[in-house]
Amino acid sequence: MIDAADLRTRSDFSIDEMAEILGATRPDEIEEIRRAAENVLLENCGSEVYYRGLIEYSNICQCDCCYCGIRRSNKGVHRYELSVEQIVDAAKWCAQERYGSVVIQSGERRDKAFIKTIVEAVRLIKRETRSDALPQGLGITLSLGEQSLDSYRHFREAGAHRYLLRIETSDPSLFAQIHPNEQSFQSRLESLDALREAGFQVGTGVMIGLPGQTTRHLAGDIAFFKEKDIDMIGMGPFIPHEATPIGQTGYEIDRSTQVQRSLLMIAMTRLAMPDINIAATTALQALDPIGREKGLKYGANVIMPLLTPSEVRSDYLLYPGKPCLDESASQCRACLEARISSIGRTIGYDKWGDSRHALERAAPK
Ligand code: SF4
Repeated sequence: MIDAADLRTRSDFSIDEMAEILGATRPDEIEEIRRAAENVLLENCGSEVYYRGLIEYSNICQCDCCYCGIRRSNKGVHRYELSVEQIVDAAKWCAQERYGSVVIQSGERRDKAFIKTIVEAVRLIKRETRSDALPQGLGITLSLGEQSLDSYRHFREAGAHRYLLRIETSDPSLFAQIHPNEQSFQSRLESLDALREAGFQVGTGVMIGLPGQTTRHLAGDIAFFKEKDIDMIGMGPFIPHEATPIGQTGYEIDRSTQVQRSLLMIAMTRLAMPDINIAATTALQALDPIGREKGLKYGANVIMPLLTPSEVRSDYLLYPGKPCLDESASQCRACLEARISSIGRTIGYDKWGDSRHALERAAPK
């Protein structure tokens, strides 16, 4: 096992070293890794946790990812689409509660009506959430899958400045196993490059615990994040959904192994990339009631409270067991605030909370 001092002072870990850290099973070793990641986070990013209010715009998707509950072939899903007004209302609530940023997420569509709606919603949010505390309005992250460079440019011009596009796994053959032939690894890579070209801060992420995935694959994922100079990461445990091809193979997960591996992945990513943003995702909480707090203790600094109107929340089920389906946005707010202060961290109210990594890249040299 790598020396504790090395864990805190180095970020240039080899694939072998990262795979070894990700495979840690002894409680004392895991605690050593956790503590090192938390220290690296506090030294490089401070103790604030940034909120991104999550608005799930629509569960209509043209893709057929083999792990996803809202894939196009799942005919058992009630499909919905929020109106622009509903999106903007959710964002205004967010600004009023001093959240600082929103994420608009959706199933993937590339038709003109979809692009137009997003552009309109982004423009309105920017215009209607300006205040003394947020002179440029809310920060907006989009997560709408693979789009053309032109569409990315339209979103950017409208005022969104961060985009999350998960690679899901950086291993091309594993990627091919969990996607239909029409969805290629190469196309995902090109979209990530196009996002950078369009001027976005770029986020990506992977699923942890996929069938056939090893700690070496995960170590390779972190090397990929570094190579692509990623600004923010959203990743979490893979949870099989019964109405999907992977779920139907009978593949089962062990919840605690899945949570522990995901937490180590957060910690290892923090050690390797000290100044980026890392989200503690809801999927962690789906497997462990205090999964998100644990994520923060292992080096994460972003949380995405759910703002989707409660009447359609249960229709956006990428995986089963999603938490907070019944709570209203205000109940989530109170609950999260208590959870975050219970672990000695504060909330970055009224701040966009961009990663230091992104801000330093953008700063004039
Ligand atoms: S993971 Fe995203 S792109 Fe794939 S089917 Fe689900 S919503 Fe669509």
